[in-house]
Amino acid sequence: MSKAIIYRSGKLYKEEIEEGGSPNSLRVLQTGVCGSDRHILAQRLGDGPFVIGHEIVGIVDKLERPELLLGDSVQLGERVIVAPGINCGKCRNCIMKRKYCSNRFVYGFTPFASPERNGSFAETMELRAGTKLFKIPDAMSDDRASFAEIMACAVGAIEKITDAANLSDLGKVVVLGAGPAGLCVYTAAKFYGLDVHLYDINEEAMAFARRIGPLQTVNSLEGLEGVSAVIDCAGSARAFTQAVELVDIGGMVIEFGAFVPAAAPASFPFWLICQKDLTIRGISETYDRNFPVALRILQESPLALERLFTERIQLDELDRIVQCLETPTIGKAVVISSSR
Ligand SMILES: [Zn+2]
Ligand SMILES: [Zn+2]
Repeated sequence: MSKAIIYRSGKLYKEEIEEGGSPNSLRVLQTGVCGSDRHILAQRLGDGPFVIGHEIVGIVDKLERPELLLGDSVQLGERVIVAPGINCGKCRNCIMKRKYCSNRFVYGFTPFASPERNGSFAETMELRAGTKLFKIPDAMSDDRASFAEIMACAVGAIEKITDAANLSDLGKVVVLGAGPAGLCVYTAAKFYGLDVHLYDINEEAMAFARRIGPLQTVNSLEGLEGVSAVIDCAGSARAFTQAVELVDIGGMVIEFGAFVPAAAPASFPFWLICQKDLTIRGISETYDRNFPVALRILQESPLALERLFTERIQLDELDRIVQCLETPTIGKAVVISSSR
């Protein structure tokens, strides 16, 4: 038996779960709390049941059939990141060799598929066949490694820009929203050498963001010219509208922040998509191939993303977990399952 936080129909429960008997498993160290976890509790992503948590840092504690795992080749006792998604390999998209699976299993999001437990707000996680693990460099702290999952998502957004653009012609890239997601996107853009600028309407959020290191920011979007791409990490209708208005002709807007229905704007200038010949892209989740580069960015970037953690919650503290998910604050929380 081991402890886990289970989501079921708009509520979280602390429960003891029986071992499912998977040949490979993880002892969870810690899990970053993501905006999606808030959407889960607010019942915007289904009823469950499942163990929540997908920004996973853990230690391989059972490795009876390593051939069932993908990603890095790992040893017992090694510290790893888990890529949360697993493609089914059977649906039409999988068979057509597209990267999108219409039946994708995601740790921390997919209802119980017995016997495996699925998210990492838990003491242990049983690893399904096809799970991709990535080794965490020894010198990297657990807190920093917790950003690998969002960073992999950020890389997915940035590569949409770099794949489409002739980099020598690429002008400014603006990131809207200075929360943890926006700062990961900013960090990834810096790593790729883009001329990236950060903006948040909330001055307190901007001031908080600066704790990770020097940032290239703008105080106002007014009069900003030569913007080739805007990535909306704020996830509000207002920010998306600003993005479409701000971006230059022929540019790209990427929606990164809005994953569930949000209030629609009273009026959205959709004609600008046509008038400016815009490309509008989204990013639904991490692409597995981006985890190694995400870890490299975390290894090499001087920006101290781990300073964004303002709240450390023990797995036992169900009330605090619920409160953290119900009342978001500036900064990021982490749920601690065990220590090294
Ligand atoms: Zn997430
Ligand atoms: Zn599939």
